[in-house]
Amino acid sequence: MWVDFHVHTRRSRDSMASPKDVVKSAVRKGLRAIAITDHNEVKGIQEVKEEVRRLGADLMVIPGEEVKTARGDVIGLFISERIPKGMDISETVDRIREQGGLVMVPHPFDRKMRGALGDAILDILGKIDYIEVLNGRTPSWNNRKAEEFAKRYGIPGLGGSDAHWPGEIGKVRTLVARLDEGKIEPIKVEGDGWPPIIFGVLYSSIAKAFRIL
Ligand SMILES: [Zn+2]
Repeated sequence: MWVDFHVHTRRSRDSMASPKDVVKSAVRKGLRAIAITDHNEVKGIQEVKEEVRRLGADLMVIPGEEVKTARGDVIGLFISERIPKGMDISETVDRIREQGGLVMVPHPFDRKMRGALGDAILDILGKIDYIEVLNGRTPSWNNRKAEEFAKRYGIPGLGGSDAHWPGEIGKVRTLVARLDEGKIEPIKVEGDGWPPIIFGVLYSSIAKAFRIL
């Protein structure tokens, strides 16, 4: 089954995606599961789950959070409780694991994207379950670095669109053999370049501007 491991909703400050549009887009793209990974927030997970139920969609919702740590972003998958932002990177990762969650490092080498862990990734090396080797908003050369890093350290790779508007969902997808709490078995990650990164980034800037107004 195809999965998108990195999706935002309007519960993220830089997204306006409604739960309904998120579910509809995921189904349209042929996905069987999506991870809801809002910035430092988990309220969107339940909202998307309710929408799945309402629409009768065949879509699994993986509860996640993209947590901003003192050194950069980390994603917890299959978490049950919100993890506060701003903590030390090791502490954040421990909190994810204590809940039985899985640790995925998103866009680790995309320096342009605020939130990339960069070298701080080495501090949590033994506690990383997955590396996001293909991120829909990261230029290919930085995705390649993530892929090389994952290979070098033998860490399995997952892919995520990092969608902030519904059109981006499924732009990057991962084929998995197994998807359970505590275990994801990826087979391959793929994605296409459409819609281009600039579309998504522009959308997020507009979303943020609306929040300020
Ligand atoms: Zn994200």
